[in-house]
Amino acid sequence: MSHIAIVGAGPSGAFAAAAAVKNPDVSVDVFDRLPTPFGLIRYGVAPDHVKIKSVTRVLSKTFGAERVRFFGNVEYGRDIPVGALHEAYDAVLFATGSTGSRALGIAGEDLIGNYSAADIVPWYNGHPLRGSEMRISEPGEKSTVAIVGAGNVSLDIARILLKGRAGLSDTDVPESVLAALDSHASVDEVHIIVRRGAADVRFTLPELQEFDRMSEEDLDVTIYDADLRSEPTAADLADPTAQQRWDLFSRWATRKPTGADRRLIFHFGVTPSRIDGVNRVSELTLTQSGHELAPTRTIRVDAVITSIGYAGEPIPGLEFDHERSVVPNELGRAGNRTYVAGWIKRGPTGVVGANKACAGETMRVLLEDLSAADQDVDRSDARKRLLADLRTKCSPVDWEGWQRIDNAEVVLGTEFGCNRKKITDHRRLVEIATAVSA
Ligand code: NAP
Repeated sequence: MSHIAIVGAGPSGAFAAAAAVKNPDVSVDVFDRLPTPFGLIRYGVAPDHVKIKSVTRVLSKTFGAERVRFFGNVEYGRDIPVGALHEAYDAVLFATGSTGSRALGIAGEDLIGNYSAADIVPWYNGHPLRGSEMRISEPGEKSTVAIVGAGNVSLDIARILLKGRAGLSDTDVPESVLAALDSHASVDEVHIIVRRGAADVRFTLPELQEFDRMSEEDLDVTIYDADLRSEPTAADLADPTAQQRWDLFSRWATRKPTGADRRLIFHFGVTPSRIDGVNRVSELTLTQSGHELAPTRTIRVDAVITSIGYAGEPIPGLEFDHERSVVPNELGRAGNRTYVAGWIKRGPTGVVGANKACAGETMRVLLEDLSAADQDVDRSDARKRLLADLRTKCSPVDWEGWQRIDNAEVVLGTEFGCNRKKITDHRRLVEIATAVSA
């Protein structure tokens, strides 16, 4: 029997584990620093995207399967010393994702009220360890937010802020976040800042169309100055989806504001050049992309959120490519008996399903390497020592422990008339998970 350790219980870690145990001679231990499994699905996917979140049912089958063990609340590099996994397992696979943020590198980014997607997304998803609380409006007042970036995460953030409590009350968004969306993070205007033209964005059509549906209920969606900048060429719109996106933007550009309570305004072909404010953010200056020295417009804002892609974080003991924010690898191979999968392998792009093929590729390579190794080494004593050591250090949460948390969240949800309410307090999560039933 070969024993594999996986660090990271998000979709990539789960897909890798599922691929591994298809081989009856393999067992897998999955470690995660959080007491809960599912990583990006639980703390990255937008709370109103219930269908995408439901992939947790598939991942649960893997974590609950024979020959797979889950150890939550265990941090590699803190609770597990670097090197200890290699002593205890035949191979170690890291699927730690990309949880850091990228900055614009412009003046004013240190002002209060400047946030990144890596702050906001974990916050509204109730992450127990990450995500600063947004404080952008005074109780009873509405605020204006600019979001920089033309990817789907920008659209998620805009939608969640504009929906507010009323639009999210049937989701698992924690009560503390809904209360904040009512008071000090209450937003009625969002500007999305796109450095390219409208024909050249990474937003996907279904995510844009969600705003069309919201506009039937009190949301004005417009294009700043009705300006789509340069007309696209036939080649730009060769892809039918690009044509549909362009048609949608063109329709929005001709729309007259109806006086709705909430507004979403897209700006195309402009780049942020500075953020100003006394103590906190109050203005964002934009320049025409490619002409960065000539300011074109200034918008009054209460907060700026930079959503220009996530960044992977270095893993103790492994090489790191700081430019690309990934662990250098070849088909997932990242050193002796060391492998990577998911965003830390290929960078922060692609929908959840893309990680299945990515993790499958790494696991195929890993299993080939294992079967090519000339001798079996018995690491069972090192494994026992490691697991015993963890129990003295950090209260690991096993799969039954997670199921207790799951159950507690579902029960909490019934109090609020929804399927689940997330528990956000880290200590409370561990207490629930490790409670011994009388
Ligand atoms: P993304 O798709 O890579 O988009 C990042 C955006 O930031 C790009 O539009 C990029 O512009 C822009 N950008 C980068 N540097 C910039 C700068 N200095 N100034 C201005 N703009 C800058 O990243 P993401 O939105 O974080 O999404 C990550 C992945 O998750 C994507 O594959 C996304 O599709 C996926 N996702 C999917 C869903 C869904 O399916 N519902 C939801 C969320 C995320 P350029 O295009 O000009 O480089």
